Amino acid sequence: MYRVGIDLGGTNIKVGIVDENQKIIAIASSPTMGKRSANEVIKDMANLVKSLIKKAEINSNDISGVGIGCPGTIDTINGIVLYSNNLNWEDVPLIDELHELLQYPIRVSNDANCAAIGEVKAGAAKDLKNIVMLTLGTGVGSGIILDGKIFEGGHPGGAELGHTILVKDGRECTCGRKGCLEAYASATALIQTTKEMVRKHKNSLILKFCKGDLEKIDGKMVFDAFEQEDEVAVKIIDDYISYLGEGIVDIINVFRPDRILLSGGICNQGKTLTNPLDAYVKKYCFAGEKAMIPNVTKASLLNNAGIIGAAALLEM
Ligand SMILES: [Zn+2]
Repeated sequence: MYRVGIDLGGTNIKVGIVDENQKIIAIASSPTMGKRSANEVIKDMANLVKSLIKKAEINSNDISGVGIGCPGTIDTINGIVLYSNNLNWEDVPLIDELHELLQYPIRVSNDANCAAIGEVKAGAAKDLKNIVMLTLGTGVGSGIILDGKIFEGGHPGGAELGHTILVKDGRECTCGRKGCLEAYASATALIQTTKEMVRKHKNSLILKFCKGDLEKIDGKMVFDAFEQEDEVAVKIIDDYISYLGEGIVDIINVFRPDRILLSGGICNQGKTLTNPLDAYVKKYCFAGEKAMIPNVTKASLLNNAGIIGAAALLEM
């Protein structure tokens, strides 16, 4: 049997057919064009799934169901997207509407949850039962897997580790509070810090890399300057790692998972990022070396985690 996984993002709808070995055997995508009504996006999702099944020459009876990873706050039991900033959706009965067009069992969960379960099924946390994955992008998404299952709290809106406070009365966060982990550890936050620092320290290599245009600064420029021991970049990265490290230590103290996974563009830095985080965590986790200390590891499936994880919702 096969399952279909849909990674529904603000930019693209990605659909994959996943086999029993967690391999994606066929893949297709189309732009979400999120300014449209939810109806039109859902119609596109159904058409993409149908045409992919046809293209892969799979008998529709061999598809056991469709899983969807969706950004935002999701009522997974009733299949309703309560709110999604990326899609501009509010109270969309996603499963019911898609089911009118696709007569398969359909499941939905938050995209960060799907990415985490994808890594457990086939990626950097394969066969582990307890992991926490942080996605460091525009925001900080979190997926918590406990005893092999997605932990989303008792009700929608739980398990949002990005919106726990790191600095009381700190930086404004997108959620309306101040000082959330997201406001210090997201890729957006790293760039914000860099802009603030480069404005104050005009001798930084980063200013050279962005050719004087602060709006062009990206995460890679900061790490490139860090590699060249640019003092400003070293300070930015050291601070970034200690903020993220504090957040991860809190997560370990609560969940003590087998592993912490990180994903998002920043993770392309690999061990430049994970080695100092590992050291930070070893130093500050509760109970020190008396307790098991999980490694901080880069997620390995990149963009495919969402599809594999969404398809895996059918097995949960
Ligand atoms: Zn927040």
